[in-house]
Amino acid sequence: MKSTLRRTWAEIDLSALSYNYNKIRELTGGDVKFMGVVKADAYGHGAVMIARTLQELGADYLAVSSIDEAMELRYNGITMPVLILGHTPMEQVDRLICFNITQAVTCEAKAREYSSAAVEYGGTLKVHIKVDTGMSRLGYICEGDYFEHGIRGIVDACNMPGLDAEGIFTHFAVSDEDGEECSRYTEHQFKLFNDVADAVERERGCNFRLRHCANTGATVNYPQTHLDMVRPGILLYGYGEHAKALGLRPVMTMKTTVSTIKIYPADTKISYGLTYTTDETARIGVIPYGYADGFFRCLSNRYSVMTSEGAAPVRGRICMDMSMIDLTGKPGVGVGDVVEIFGPDNPIEEMAKMAGTIPYEIVCAVSKRVHRIYMSDGNVVYSEVMLRL
Ligand SMILES: *Cc1c(COP(=O)(O)O)cnc(C)c1O
Repeated sequence: MKSTLRRTWAEIDLSALSYNYNKIRELTGGDVKFMGVVKADAYGHGAVMIARTLQELGADYLAVSSIDEAMELRYNGITMPVLILGHTPMEQVDRLICFNITQAVTCEAKAREYSSAAVEYGGTLKVHIKVDTGMSRLGYICEGDYFEHGIRGIVDACNMPGLDAEGIFTHFAVSDEDGEECSRYTEHQFKLFNDVADAVERERGCNFRLRHCANTGATVNYPQTHLDMVRPGILLYGYGEHAKALGLRPVMTMKTTVSTIKIYPADTKISYGLTYTTDETARIGVIPYGYADGFFRCLSNRYSVMTSEGAAPVRGRICMDMSMIDLTGKPGVGVGDVVEIFGPDNPIEEMAKMAGTIPYEIVCAVSKRVHRIYMSDGNVVYSEVMLRL
């Protein structure tokens, strides 16, 4: 790596990704297909490289949130099936068909729009029907009194010209949480989903080719929900308690280097707002990692980064582009030395807890100026920066 790159970078370990992928496939078994969730730039890991790796590993499907994300994959040589989980404007249906992108259908109005746009274009749009079983976000409502109406709407969508209903799916709200109430809720969602899919298949007289519902929590906690395909996101990237339980490896390690070190006397105020005062002579380092890189400002005066000589606490407020760390009593840590913000030696789960959030939000917040350095078997295989250079 050239020294100009050594500001702050995220190491993306593709070996860890394939390790996690293989472990999950071992868990789900041979007949269950695998949809890798690569929305939000693959949870901040870089969608193109993650998708390329999953394609090489033999994954069956990818999931993204928008047509822009789907097109990014197609323009970068990803040929495998891609499902868009969110809405696409009907004016874009021709592109979906042209680039063989699968679209989620979440209600009657959308089904009609997609159908008429596909017919007008003269093609067939592959769709997956989304059932709302209790997440109360997208999908056909089929709960209680809505059941018959929901079934009717879904069957209608399946029979619309220009649509090929390949799949049916739902999404769990609490499959990743412990407790009796959560497992009851999840089991109810799962039963409703199967009841809906069964009823629709009976009415249609044919089966969906793909019935899927298992996000990370369900993939690990509810094996009965694997059905035709699992759909994990965070698990694949190796974060959270479920990843830990399976012995998976974190894919991203955030690193930076110490850019300067100064010695301050006792009673020196540090950074904006003067929120920290040294209590003795202090050796303070500056790291080029701030909230514009994705370092949550609420971690000011609380978080510690990991150095070769142990944890170094953040002193004073985290700034936009920099933060100060306390290197007092760490004479072995000098200018230019690498520190780990989060990674195998400084778990992102702890960082998330401290920031009052979840690992998802931290990896998604890694900003575009942070270089993504892709590693395989310990070697750099590719490096990417998302600035308009
Ligand atoms: C994001 C998402 C997933 C993956 O969720 P994880 O908790 O990361 O496993 C699966 N399905 C849908 C519909 C999603 O939006």
